[in-house]
Amino acid sequence: MTRKKFDIPKMYQSPIIRKVKEATKIIDPMKKDLEPTVLDFGPVQFLIPRFFGFCYGVENAIDIAYRTVAENPDKDIYLLSEMIHNPTVNEDLQKRGVKFLFDTDGTEHIPISSLSEEDIVIVPAFGTTLEIQSQLKEVGIDPYRFNTTCPFVEKVWKRGKQLGKKDYSLVVHGKHRHEETRATFSHSADHSAVVVVLNPEEAKILADIMTGERPGSDFEKYFGHKSTGGFDPIKDMERFGVINQTTMLATETQEVMEILREAAIKRFGEANVLDHFADTSDTLCYATNENQSATLALAETDADLAIVVGGYNSSNTMHLVEILEHHFPTYHVRDKGELSPDLINHFDQWDKEMKRTRDWLAMKESPHKIALTSGASCPDILVDEVLLQILEYFEDTNKVGDVISPFEEKLEPE
Ligand code: SF4
Repeated sequence: MTRKKFDIPKMYQSPIIRKVKEATKIIDPMKKDLEPTVLDFGPVQFLIPRFFGFCYGVENAIDIAYRTVAENPDKDIYLLSEMIHNPTVNEDLQKRGVKFLFDTDGTEHIPISSLSEEDIVIVPAFGTTLEIQSQLKEVGIDPYRFNTTCPFVEKVWKRGKQLGKKDYSLVVHGKHRHEETRATFSHSADHSAVVVVLNPEEAKILADIMTGERPGSDFEKYFGHKSTGGFDPIKDMERFGVINQTTMLATETQEVMEILREAAIKRFGEANVLDHFADTSDTLCYATNENQSATLALAETDADLAIVVGGYNSSNTMHLVEILEHHFPTYHVRDKGELSPDLINHFDQWDKEMKRTRDWLAMKESPHKIALTSGASCPDILVDEVLLQILEYFEDTNKVGDVISPFEEKLEPE
């Protein structure tokens, strides 16, 4: 897909990170080099991954949403739910009068039945369910008129539909309450038997049920609440493909595919596996792949700690944290407001709560090396602000202009 140019509001653009990203694109147009960039401020260095931040789908959604708000000052504008999982962007849209119909887990705030055909409803980047699409149509609202569903999510749905036409069932690797997985489930259930698995551990349980190593009754226990009615793990897993919530760890999706492919081989024999297991690896999202690969390269550096900027309900941000925390202390923060010189507030996805860590910058040696990145729904400006905030905690740092000028030299004059 050719990279479209999107109109991103100036307030989300950043004077530092944007220049680094633009320059790296020019230096490495074929995207071959995953080596992180070092921004050397003297007593502190920031290690910036090759890929991070806004992806195609998020830029597309922001472009459409802000254009819709600007062009329709007299209309009531609604978003089905958070447009992307970033509080800064969502709060700004709410300040501009946009109202949310549902919250992230599907709880209704404003009934669709109370809307009129004059109203505007923006479908978020995750897409929405067929049920909500028909409720909108019932009140006279076209769900495709202001649709920001990411084309890479739609690609997953299309592939699922092709498989459904050939009588394949679908295994969705995702979090079953996440908006995107609910949307993908709904679109898939229109043509296939569907079951959602969260991780390789659950894939193994499903595989064991398929091959008879676990009783069939375990299906109801583990998957009854996240599969289509009457799903039969023996019959419906005779022909299947795996699709994913696009922000899951790509390596985990591949693991889920491999576990279930092995089970298909065990059941039907190696020679017949292609008749029973569809190769869907081409549906994995490019941005998730790039961002996670670049994060793995960042994890290989000798950073002292990592900061990941992003919403606390952002699935892709949590996966970046998950990669980095195996290598160094890693702090997930929504913005610079969580930082002070001797204390950092950060989200712990495993305990699902905010934590406070003291002396987080107390490192033995200088320069302090800080890996800094952000999720796909995080505006670069928030990363700039975190970087500038940390610089304030150090004396005698190199000037930002001096550190950035080698990158500016690579760019075309604006
Ligand atoms: S992560 Fe991928 S699928 Fe999700 S919005 Fe971004 S580009 Fe689209």
